[in-house]
Amino acid sequence: MTDQELQQLVEQLSLEYFGRKFIHKAYFNPRLRTTGGRYLLKSHNIEINKKSYELFGIDELRGIILHELCHYHLHIQGKGYKHRDKDFRDLLTKVGAPRYCSRIEENIRKYNKMIHLYECLSCKQQYPRKRRIDVSKYRCGKCYGFLEKINVPMKK
Ligand SMILES: [Zn+2]
Ligand SMILES: [Zn+2]
Repeated sequence: MTDQELQQLVEQLSLEYFGRKFIHKAYFNPRLRTTGGRYLLKSHNIEINKKSYELFGIDELRGIILHELCHYHLHIQGKGYKHRDKDFRDLLTKVGAPRYCSRIEENIRKYNKMIHLYECLSCKQQYPRKRRIDVSKYRCGKCYGFLEKINVPMKK
């Protein structure tokens, strides 16, 4: 996904969920590490961590964007845009966004715990699992191919 595609997605979600235009910039910031995204008070821009998309997919990305858009729209309207503000919490609930920008941290921790990784020998689909599975009993969910356990380097 490019910055331009991200920009389009943010604009689209803004109209769809908030009924308001997003008129600033949204882009991936490769320096973000532990947070999924952030809203910049000065420029009104939204920065997104690309890892959150690469690791957890489009649903995770949409959640992060909706969260940042809650900060954005409330701030622009002069309402309570901070995590502890009632306006903010109410709006999050209304649009179904996750409560924290830093959900990625939690998810990366979860992901790192899935130390058993299996790969389909035919289609190369990967299956991270918390527990060991018996490869003689389970097959690939996509193509019914045989699975093989691959070693994952332990992360901190
Ligand atoms: Zn936030
Ligand atoms: Zn397969």
